[in-house]
Amino acid sequence: MKRVYTFGDGKAEGNAEMRNLLGGKGANLAEMNLLGMPVPPGFTITTEVCNQYTQDGRDAVVRLIQKDVEAAIAHVESLTGKKFDDPANPLLVSVRSGARASMPGMMDTVLNLGMNDATVASLAEKSGNPRFAWDSYRRFVQMYGDVVLGMKPKSKADIDPFEEIMEKVKEQKGVKLDTELDVDDLKNLVKLFKVAVKDFTGKDFPDSAWEQLWGGICAVFDSWMNERAILYRRMNQIPEEWGTAVNVQAMVYGNMGNNSATGVAFSRDAATGENMFNGEYLINAQGEDVVAGIRTPQQITVEGSRRWAALQGISEDDRKNKYPSLEESMPDCAAELIAIANRLEDYYKDMQDMEFTIQDGKLWMLQTRNGKRTGAAMVKIAMDLLRAGQIDEKTTLMRMEPQKLDELLHPVFDKAALKRAKVVAKGLPASPGAAAGQVVFSAEDAEAWAEKKKKVVLVRIETSPEDLRGMAVAQGILTMRGGMTSHAAVVARGMGKCCVSGAGEIKVDYKAKTVEMGGKVYNEGDWISLNGSTGEVYDGQVPTTEPELGGDFGAIMNLAAKYTKTLVRTNADTPRDAKQARNFGAQGIGLCRTEHMFFEGDRIKAVREMILSNDVDGRRNALKKLLPMQRGDFEGIFEAMDGYGVTIRLLDPPLHEFVPHQTATQKELAQEMGLTLEEVKAKVDSLEEFNPMLGHRGCRLGITYPEITEMQTRAIIEAALNMKARGIDVHPEIMIPLVGTLKEIQNQADVINITAAKVFEERGESVPYKVGTMIEVPRAALTADQIATVADFFSFGTNDLTQMTFGYSRDDAPKFLKFYKEHGIIKTDPFEVLDQEGVGQLVRMGVEKGRATKPELKVGICGEHGGEPSSVKFCAKLGMNYVSCSPYRVPIARVAAAQAAIEG
Ligand code: ADP
Ligand code: MG
Ligand code: MG
Repeated sequence: MKRVYTFGDGKAEGNAEMRNLLGGKGANLAEMNLLGMPVPPGFTITTEVCNQYTQDGRDAVVRLIQKDVEAAIAHVESLTGKKFDDPANPLLVSVRSGARASMPGMMDTVLNLGMNDATVASLAEKSGNPRFAWDSYRRFVQMYGDVVLGMKPKSKADIDPFEEIMEKVKEQKGVKLDTELDVDDLKNLVKLFKVAVKDFTGKDFPDSAWEQLWGGICAVFDSWMNERAILYRRMNQIPEEWGTAVNVQAMVYGNMGNNSATGVAFSRDAATGENMFNGEYLINAQGEDVVAGIRTPQQITVEGSRRWAALQGISEDDRKNKYPSLEESMPDCAAELIAIANRLEDYYKDMQDMEFTIQDGKLWMLQTRNGKRTGAAMVKIAMDLLRAGQIDEKTTLMRMEPQKLDELLHPVFDKAALKRAKVVAKGLPASPGAAAGQVVFSAEDAEAWAEKKKKVVLVRIETSPEDLRGMAVAQGILTMRGGMTSHAAVVARGMGKCCVSGAGEIKVDYKAKTVEMGGKVYNEGDWISLNGSTGEVYDGQVPTTEPELGGDFGAIMNLAAKYTKTLVRTNADTPRDAKQARNFGAQGIGLCRTEHMFFEGDRIKAVREMILSNDVDGRRNALKKLLPMQRGDFEGIFEAMDGYGVTIRLLDPPLHEFVPHQTATQKELAQEMGLTLEEVKAKVDSLEEFNPMLGHRGCRLGITYPEITEMQTRAIIEAALNMKARGIDVHPEIMIPLVGTLKEIQNQADVINITAAKVFEERGESVPYKVGTMIEVPRAALTADQIATVADFFSFGTNDLTQMTFGYSRDDAPKFLKFYKEHGIIKTDPFEVLDQEGVGQLVRMGVEKGRATKPELKVGICGEHGGEPSSVKFCAKLGMNYVSCSPYRVPIARVAAAQAAIEG
């Protein structure tokens, strides 16, 4: 078993394919060598050694790899002509971690390892640059102390002990920048740092290079099991067995003077995807100085530099003198770097993110990896590579992280304007997008202002179903209370509307119609802007740009359509949502929740009247009022979905959700209905249930009050006939909720069929329709073979199915699921990501048993999971006919479904 892989001078024992064994960094360092690029020589200790370390501990592993490491160091010595632990001609190295997936939370890199009082002197002499030698030494003691000896503070709020010392020294000297410290200052710093180390560890700073090296290597392995890393792995589902590799590499120095530099570069623009090489560098700097924000980094290309200067308001002369691009300051290195970037892209067939250092005019590559990118860049880069013939269509689709497509569907802020904008509050990024509007404080005001063509942001303490119409017309919603699953957040996400929730520091006053944020009082009509992707609230009107759904995005959607085997439908309750979803490519409606229509306008009154009636006649009267309203909505939805199936679910929620709970509203209702307040109160009380989610709801309502099912069926069938008469291709599918037994579905199917037949007779014409059920009670999945004798289709309602399979109440679970997640009891929230292991078995059983009875049974999913990529793939692979999700998740589901088909 080979445990240590060397690289250097155009040769390497590893290569890019060996990512699992060598980690991403190590594999790519090897590959860059093989591609003939200038890479400082070094070696990689494998991820398998890390696992052994975790198992057997430090001593065993050091014994195990000691010989190999010594041989590898000798290899580096021979390539560099320097000697490790030799004061006369010292070889210094970096020790770097590197797992398969890039992982924050791992050990930070230690640079300049191998230094001590003797080597610093010879380094100063050999380089003729004592400042460089002492700067390197100072950095080394600091990094080693922080990273290997554990002196780095655990929280960001605490100050690094070394930074504190340095600040003091700079203050005493009256300077601001590290570069203003001279050799004596740096010598003094090293001394003070070592004292700090002794105070902290009780031991002297290790002088032996070998002791330092083993300290560094073991610290990398230890960091695999540190708290931060474990937490990150848990959240990102990275298995512990992956382990991290350790890279040890000869140092090159970007801090050797003004002919040296260090920087990062991207082969394309990571924000826009534009095919434009770009990056930043710093002269006379080392390691991560560029990203640390100590000095202002300069641009690599002239073009980038000019763009940057324009944004900063810096004149061309000033730019050239003070902040020249690398193309101007070191043209040869810049040209070589660009050529390397091109070759790396050509090799990896993807955008590269690179790190480099220039030592005394010579370029060295230190890292390359596929670059992180925004959703927009992800789409553009993949499509550009496809057009350039670099990758094929399937690869293009597989390059999509479906979730990220969401970023492309919402308005975004103008970048330049955003830089100038002032943040006045911060809440949760509840629903993505950007919005600017005038502040209003109620749904009615929102509607009134919107009527006058004004753009508004609805500001509420929290929202409730009554706010729906106001939310629909607002540009965005800001709430003071409520989390990521609050009413406002869930509804806004469904609408694709920007929402910032739970901005605890703002003060909302409904009476005065004011909100106080960032020390300023905003009155009704004042402008604010929201970023639903970050949770930031800005003062004033920050201009936004609308999303562009054609172009590359459209091309990706077309590719998805070409490869998918699963239809994507949408969950939509209004004609408006249905249209929106169709724009995104939805092919039908998988779930139309009729009760959502009950909150519009005056309808709620008729609904309440129906609920409060004491007899069938009273209920029928009230239902008569509802009939034309529901019919009208269905007509709009059929029209929007011309040619596609529309699944309409019969009334589902427990009735107490519709009745007023406040005395004032109860009084009003009592008056309207000619009842006493006491009678209304008594009725409301009688609807109270201990466990409403398991109570009188779903088909249990339709079975006990068949007149509701009759009315809804009539509204659906009449709407279908009306639309058919207007030449629209209608495919109504009536869905019975919460069925658990054959008898239940039989009962409701009978009511539906009798009612439909009646309508057909009245009208003298008919339309084909289907009757099916949601599979959302575990018993329905278990007896799916029986239920399929009646049902034309199944739609898995995985929200309720998850709730009942786990026995987790959806409304109460957030409280403990958060804890469960943090403590590794669950990996993901089963209400977000379908639990394939448990709930998935019921889904599989439901599909198989159902189709065993009725091979042509249409099957789909309509829970929240229908828009979550891994769940979509699961359903697609089970052979479902469709998945259904909220409109803004349709594109995500389309790409995930296509990926599932490609994966096979
Ligand atoms: P990360 O994984 O956090 O990017 P790296 O291992 O890439 O950490 O190292 C951090 C910084 O140190 C990078 O800027 C890298 O360029 C620099 N660095 C690492 N090894 C060397 C080396 N041998 N010579 C010079 N700089 C190095
Ligand atoms: Mg780092
Ligand atoms: Mg790096």
